[in-house]
Amino acid sequence: MKENPLQTTIKEEVRLEGVGLHTGNKSSLTFRPSLANTGIRFFRADLPGIPMIPARLAFVVTTVRGTNLGLGEAKVHTIEHVLSACTGLGIDNIDVLTSANEPPIMDGSAMPFVEALLRAGLVDLDAPKRWLHLPHEVTYQAKDGARYRAEPSDRFEISATLIHDHPMMPKMSLSMTVDLESYLAEVARARTFCFEHEVASLQSQGLAQGGSLENAIVIGKSEFHTNAEGLRYQDEFVRHKMLDLIGDLTLIGRPLFKMRITAERLGHAHNVEFAKLLDEAAKKLRKSKNRVLEAK
Ligand SMILES: [Zn+2]
Repeated sequence: MKENPLQTTIKEEVRLEGVGLHTGNKSSLTFRPSLANTGIRFFRADLPGIPMIPARLAFVVTTVRGTNLGLGEAKVHTIEHVLSACTGLGIDNIDVLTSANEPPIMDGSAMPFVEALLRAGLVDLDAPKRWLHLPHEVTYQAKDGARYRAEPSDRFEISATLIHDHPMMPKMSLSMTVDLESYLAEVARARTFCFEHEVASLQSQGLAQGGSLENAIVIGKSEFHTNAEGLRYQDEFVRHKMLDLIGDLTLIGRPLFKMRITAERLGHAHNVEFAKLLDEAAKKLRKSKNRVLEAK
């Protein structure tokens, strides 16, 4: 599929309602069209003055069981599925208004957001996309064994590997070229998950208060606990990790252009650190290109 060279937004406002996964707060979310070069911005519609928080790496405040943004007193938690839906559809500019400190979790995947955005319709803006060009290979390695690599390629590809020391979770890998079709068919519907032994501790930390089998898969010692639907894919877990990675990389603020990403033991904290390295490498490349132009 050919990439759209133009920036996009949505045609009209669209709204969703539900509860926040971690806070359990009732929450509604409104997507609004926006102008070229404004990027993706969250607004806390429930707070005085409707404070804005840019969906950018500099505003990440924590990465505990989700990616959380903040600017001053205003915070918005667990934004990765919303961002993943925007990037999956190639949306560069959009305002996201939330009525609470967390968007609704919906079914635990990105699909409800994708469907709402498609209902609103996409529109091209009169400005070229500002792709993130990678000058060379970028690697990231963490003490817990997480490993990430990005290298220039002729398309946008992700290979993800999930490694958990759990009898129900054998090592799971998936590679794909990410475009609109593959995102919709293979990634967007994959739901979030947690392990049964974590549930009590998450809840005692004040997390997963809105969690249920309607919005998460719970991995037990010898079985998966799901709603009546069962697993959507045998490897739904690695697909969801890909969904999260696409969401977290959105915080760079530029669509990723022709690179191959390989990632093992993915998590939000690692995704964000890796995104910072990609951003720095691409910034250096842009600076050196500007210097060449100035010298001419
Ligand atoms: Zn997730």
